[in-house]
Amino acid sequence: MIEIAANNSTLRSWVFVPENSDFPIQNLPFGIFEQKGYKSAGVAIGEMVLDLGGLQSYGFLDGIGLPDKVFEKETLNAFLALGRKMGRRVRNKISELLAEGNIELKNHYDIKSLLIPQKEVKMCMPIQVGDYTDFYSSEQHAYNVGCMFRDPDNALLPNWKYLPVGYHGRASSIIASGVPIHRPKGQQRPNDDEPPVFGPCKLLDFELEMAFITCGENLLGESISTEKAEDYIFGMVLFNDWSARDIQKWEYVPLGPFLAKSFASSVSPWIVTMDALEPFRIPGPQQDPKVLPYLEFEGDKHFDINLEAAIRPEGSGERVVTNSNFKYMYWSMAQQLAHHTVNGCNIKTGDLYGSGTLSGPDPSQFGSMLEISWRGTKPVPMSDGSERKFILDGDTVIMRGYAKQEGIRIGFGEVSTKVLPAL
Ligand code: CA
Repeated sequence: MIEIAANNSTLRSWVFVPENSDFPIQNLPFGIFEQKGYKSAGVAIGEMVLDLGGLQSYGFLDGIGLPDKVFEKETLNAFLALGRKMGRRVRNKISELLAEGNIELKNHYDIKSLLIPQKEVKMCMPIQVGDYTDFYSSEQHAYNVGCMFRDPDNALLPNWKYLPVGYHGRASSIIASGVPIHRPKGQQRPNDDEPPVFGPCKLLDFELEMAFITCGENLLGESISTEKAEDYIFGMVLFNDWSARDIQKWEYVPLGPFLAKSFASSVSPWIVTMDALEPFRIPGPQQDPKVLPYLEFEGDKHFDINLEAAIRPEGSGERVVTNSNFKYMYWSMAQQLAHHTVNGCNIKTGDLYGSGTLSGPDPSQFGSMLEISWRGTKPVPMSDGSERKFILDGDTVIMRGYAKQEGIRIGFGEVSTKVLPAL
């Protein structure tokens, strides 16, 4: 494990951080906030946002090699393009400024405008997503889907344990937490003996995922090794990869996901850095059969991050419907990126890579309603007495996640999306 000053577990901040906050001084995730028409990059600390545009303009970030006004932007892409090392320098500097005992920022005459309550700002998309790729890397999820749609004896297709299966998704419809979606419409064929019908999706589902965001680029034709892959991974967000199961079932053969997936995917607003997640590395599962040489790796490349998804029916309280973990990945992010570039495909700053639905071995850990309700055969009770097999109009789906050890909680906040009726 590498030593990072800002990760020191004894650090405390002069900014109030409530117990069990997702955002202690050891986290310091980056996002884009908007307040009264002003948009800037910010860092979360406790219940506040530190305005990085303002911080830089007052000279607090001088001397670490940042370009002028790199934070006064609509997105974090320009900052991410500076790479992981610059990200680390900025995070370490912010940690110093926010640490107990440091009065440099605390006593600044304009501190009230630099440190803003999170409840007074609107959080925006943190990046302009260039390309979006979705993987399919949780074995339990692939097994569950294979059981439902093929047969339990051959649930995993022959390629699954040899390569991280993925597809190229749609970037334009990736949206920030809080932005509602309309139920998608499309072709479905509810009866296998009859022609398809057109209308609103009837089997709308969430997929509990995480996504990583890249910084830096490789040249077209070059590939990135598993050893170097993490240099290109800036951080992670929670990711709800919405799915229209009935549209998907009819359209996906032979080329895979299309309109059943491209109508929306929702992300949490704060990018938690891989630096902040460094203490939460764990070994991954034993990979058998042995992987091909370009997918071999050394060290712990998996991460222990608790995840949950909840449904809140209109006008009612929420009910948590699953508790999963990012550790249920068969393939690590480093292997996913090495595989993605092994053919010479170039990655860019601000690309987003979904993990695939994260399901654990127990049914209470399944990451989609398709699996939780087992294709609609096991309805799930809601707090208002109703039941869900899939997501209904008026429902809000909320996902949360955090890593925790030795009293330090590195949280992701939440991604929350309300489903409105079809247009
Ligand atoms: Ca997905």
